Amino acid sequence: KECPMSVATNSPVPESLQPFLSSPKKMLIGGKWVDAKSGKTFEVFDPASDQVIAGVAEGDAADVELAVAAARKAFDQGPWSKMGGSERSRLIWRIGELIEEHADELAQIETLDNGKPFAVAKAADVALAADMFRYMAGWATKIEGNTIPIQLPYAPESEFHAFTLREPVGVVGQIIPWNFPLLMAAWKLAPALTTGCTVILKPAEQTPLSALRLGELILQAGVPDGVVNIITGFGETAGAAIASHDQIDKVAFTGSTEVGKLIINAATGNLKRVSLELGGKSPNVIYDDADLDSAIAGAADAIFFNQGEVCSAGSRLFVQKGVYDEVVAGVSEIAKNLKVGSGFDASTQMGPLVSREQFDRVTGYLKAGVSEGAEAAAGGSALDRPGYFVQPTVLKNASEDMSVVREEIFGPVVAAMPFGDEAELVGQANNTAYGLAAGIWTRDISKAHRFAKAVKAGSVWINCYSVFDAALPFGGYKQSGWGREMGHAVLENYLQTKSVCVSL
Ligand code: NAD
Repeated sequence: KECPMSVATNSPVPESLQPFLSSPKKMLIGGKWVDAKSGKTFEVFDPASDQVIAGVAEGDAADVELAVAAARKAFDQGPWSKMGGSERSRLIWRIGELIEEHADELAQIETLDNGKPFAVAKAADVALAADMFRYMAGWATKIEGNTIPIQLPYAPESEFHAFTLREPVGVVGQIIPWNFPLLMAAWKLAPALTTGCTVILKPAEQTPLSALRLGELILQAGVPDGVVNIITGFGETAGAAIASHDQIDKVAFTGSTEVGKLIINAATGNLKRVSLELGGKSPNVIYDDADLDSAIAGAADAIFFNQGEVCSAGSRLFVQKGVYDEVVAGVSEIAKNLKVGSGFDASTQMGPLVSREQFDRVTGYLKAGVSEGAEAAAGGSALDRPGYFVQPTVLKNASEDMSVVREEIFGPVVAAMPFGDEAELVGQANNTAYGLAAGIWTRDISKAHRFAKAVKAGSVWINCYSVFDAALPFGGYKQSGWGREMGHAVLENYLQTKSVCVSL
């Protein structure tokens, strides 16, 4: 009640989305839109209103079986297997163009299904997804091996011509989460297509809609049947069937660390390759010599962007003692003034959480934080209205033993902690099972570089936060994952190397 947060009105869903919403939501298998074999569907909700917006085919192991057969055929025999890099590049570029041409519609679908503000969906999710396809289109013609001079110690007079070929791993299962549904699909599909793999994609059950629209655009671009198959359904059924299938050569997973461990176990049957983008509890550090205005705004953005449903969110805020009170007050002031409401209202800065389950999880952490001794300097509870809205929250007096500091909340909740000097800071920042990202705000460039080397994280942002580009690799140290997304580093996930040796 102390928090005079403004609430934007719950704007109606745009009329232009009605044709898409009213069409049946089927799965894409072998180039055809099909119902689940069981005939079952599941409901998808608008998180801003708690109302059902669509019924979607509920795929399970039987549908995964059909999708794998289609992907296998397209990889082993189809036109895809004979297509050169230049033609693949053209198709992948075209997908990027089609995403841009349908930017408003895709952003609306994302806002409706996930809850995020329309402006965020359009400027971040949709624009970055289009860019990912364009960036990857360029790599399709640049996948090449090496010529390697060799001389055998036991037969030095023998002459060889030796070289490597870079080949696609084959049929790939891709399982993605709900926080950036279209963008996560793009991060996964673009490199798989670039390298010549075929795919079974499973979007999250909370947010399957933009992946289905993307599937239509992929067919429109001219990607051959069976190259991209989309199975909608739940993790324990459809997802588990993908992870364990012995005709799938690789699984690429983005989601929680807990499920990531299940994926690894399920993959052991045929020893399929595994890449994982998992959770985070990233440290964001503000030194007393930082430009405090930008550091405070940056710290707020690092946690409140996308409702805090960001794997790399700056959820542990470390502030040097002398400026701790000022920074906490500044971030709290921003939190209190953020407009929370429907993503379709142009004034909204933060939307609802994605689902009832996520709402319960985040509000559970808010209660746990306070009962463990933290104090809400801003926010601290849910909003009393329909939909899954919580207040942007700043917890002060937080300490390293609290669950809100150790565990990933995946919501708009930051725990602020003071630190003394650099040595103390590095220990605190690295005191986590995760290692996805880190931020540091200081005018001392040497200190910033020392931190960048010392912190165990896959991305480090200096005087900025949440900078993503298709060319920049992203991924986790420690329990935040295996492998990298984006950049040319991601190609490693989808390629294997063959050595060829010719006796001269
Ligand atoms: P989740 O792990 O519950 O679900 C992710 C996906 O896995 C969904 O498609 C789900 O259906 C599927 N799944 C669930 N159980 C499964 C099983 N037993 N077998 C196979 N598939 C299964 O995660 P979530 O709640 O949807 O997403 C939030 C998590 O994702 C957070 O931990 C977040 O940090 C992480 N995330 C990481 C990144 C990254 O790049 N590192 C990006 C976005 C989200």
